[in-house]
Amino acid sequence: MKNIYSWQKEAWRRLAQDVQGSRRSSVHALLLRGRKGLGKLAFGRYLAKSRLCENPSAEGEACQTCASCRWFEQGSHPDYRLIEPEAMSGSPDDNREDGSSDIGPGSTPGSVSGATTESSNAKSRKKPSKQISVAQIRDLADFINISSHQNGYKIILLHPAETMNAAAANALLKNLEEPPPRTLFILVTHHAQYLLPTIRSRCLQVAMPVPDPATAIAWLKQQGIKDPETCLASAGYAPLSALEFNDDDYLERHGDFIEQISVLAELSPIALAEALQKSDLSTVVNWLQKWCYDLMSFRTTGKVRYHLDRLAAIELLAPGIEPRSLATYSRTLAGAQLLASHPLNTRLFLEELLFSYVAALSPASPSSQVEA
Ligand SMILES: [Zn+2]
Repeated sequence: MKNIYSWQKEAWRRLAQDVQGSRRSSVHALLLRGRKGLGKLAFGRYLAKSRLCENPSAEGEACQTCASCRWFEQGSHPDYRLIEPEAMSGSPDDNREDGSSDIGPGSTPGSVSGATTESSNAKSRKKPSKQISVAQIRDLADFINISSHQNGYKIILLHPAETMNAAAANALLKNLEEPPPRTLFILVTHHAQYLLPTIRSRCLQVAMPVPDPATAIAWLKQQGIKDPETCLASAGYAPLSALEFNDDDYLERHGDFIEQISVLAELSPIALAEALQKSDLSTVVNWLQKWCYDLMSFRTTGKVRYHLDRLAAIELLAPGIEPRSLATYSRTLAGAQLLASHPLNTRLFLEELLFSYVAALSPASPSSQVEA
């Protein structure tokens, strides 16, 4: 990824004005916020690269050719650190919002993951952490305190910022309260509401734009996506997430899932939970959330947002639904999404969600459901 996405140009211009125009050199921290799949990480990286560039353009964009730009692309820039949960540093597709086409495993510049911290080494064989640890934030002190190689900025990109645990967030807060000179923190978050208010208030917040569908579809076509309209809708209009839907394996798994939950009489929560126990839970909960959104939407407005290709199944299911119990279930799913990154038992977690799904969709005659 050598540039920002076309739908981000305006945000770039505004940010350049905000930060440079008014000479607000007091900006020590930026918060790039917006939902997953909009390209926030790429924007943050490009911002870092441009700030470090020796010959930026008038618009503040990286020249792509100076030594600094080359270091950045090689992943060896001495004045840049990317802080991510250990679980993300090795697996680009896992929860990386950017579909990772621009970032390969291990190729992230100056990546500091939990893998290098003492706490995770001590507990080897443990699952890689999905949180940003306090050790990762404390390790930054050395980086911040030595002078930069080029007498310029030092930049720290945290992604996704909401994965900082409480101790990490407090350690970061100290840095934001007494910002080190010529250091810029860029926080990228899919869920700004989960960040400490004291962290949010110390950042210049940038709401990252969602492209209009035509722009997103044009971009997806350029990426060689076969059915961009369906992929984009399935991904909730976040273009980078839509790329995942073009993956045959992913499409098949998602398609199977929807097919199974479409026919209540044949759905076996136990069998489905078992089949899904190796899946990313957050993804499965998200599938359920979108499906329930569409059921509700169809019930109330006759329209769907995500499952354009499943109208027939939705038409069959929706009339029998009691909106209030579906709304309650949707709240359950929102709560489950918070727990999905660290459930105690994956299979039980899924079983419970699927049993509640069946109950929520068939409240009228639970006894006949049992007989069937
Ligand atoms: Zn450059």
